[in-house]
Amino acid sequence: MGRKFVVGGNWKMNGDKNQINEIVNNLKKGPLDPNVEVIVGVPAIYLSYVKTIIPDNVEVAAQNCWKSPKGAFTGEISPAMIKDVGVNWVILGHSERRTIFGEKDELVAEKVAHALESGLKVIACIGETLEERESGKTEEVVFRQLKALVSAIGDKWENIVLAYEPVWAIGTGKTATPQQAQDVHHALRNWLSANVSGSVSDAVRIQYGGSVTAANAKELASCKDIDGFLVGGASLKPEFVEIVNANQ
Ligand code: PGA
Repeated sequence: MGRKFVVGGNWKMNGDKNQINEIVNNLKKGPLDPNVEVIVGVPAIYLSYVKTIIPDNVEVAAQNCWKSPKGAFTGEISPAMIKDVGVNWVILGHSERRTIFGEKDELVAEKVAHALESGLKVIACIGETLEERESGKTEEVVFRQLKALVSAIGDKWENIVLAYEPVWAIGTGKTATPQQAQDVHHALRNWLSANVSGSVSDAVRIQYGGSVTAANAKELASCKDIDGFLVGGASLKPEFVEIVNANQ
């Protein structure tokens, strides 16, 4: 198998230059497990700045982008622009984009396809709401989200990391139990095997996201189908280093 553990920090709309300097100094101090790929998701306006101060062992991601290279899309940024400032990753389909900004499965999938075509690597987020989980629809929802992705990108999954983030666990302090997370990750892998290919299913890395902290990361990391984390709140704090190192 050999899936490299991958931990993303999603800063969301947080941080000013002072706080960013502190976070980056903490990453420099580490030490970060060299067997883990580490990526920080930075507000667009700070991408260039962070590129000038980030250590070599940490990648940078944008938190969103549009689905075409340029044009009359006021307020948007394109994958080409993200690449142009030396950034290689983008987070797409985050639940906050889906719920607050109304991004539908098809739009997310179009963005993912265009980002990949433009040479970016993508953290693609999926996950169910509390209401959907409580009405037994978790698998139906995440499979629907995956299906939209597959319609847009087919079997080109080399540059995708999938982030399973139950919406009810994001920013709430209510982490999914390791068993709940493992069950969904396993179901996602089975779906990919049946609907894309066995090799994509084996190779794709699936992160868990939703109230990950230094206190719960180790147990989650020990689950067979959990290949990393997408971390929000705790990625702004020194404990992010412990989360990166949770797979040791
Ligand atoms: P959280 O956010 O760790 O603060 O729950 C996770 C995310 O939104 O990616």
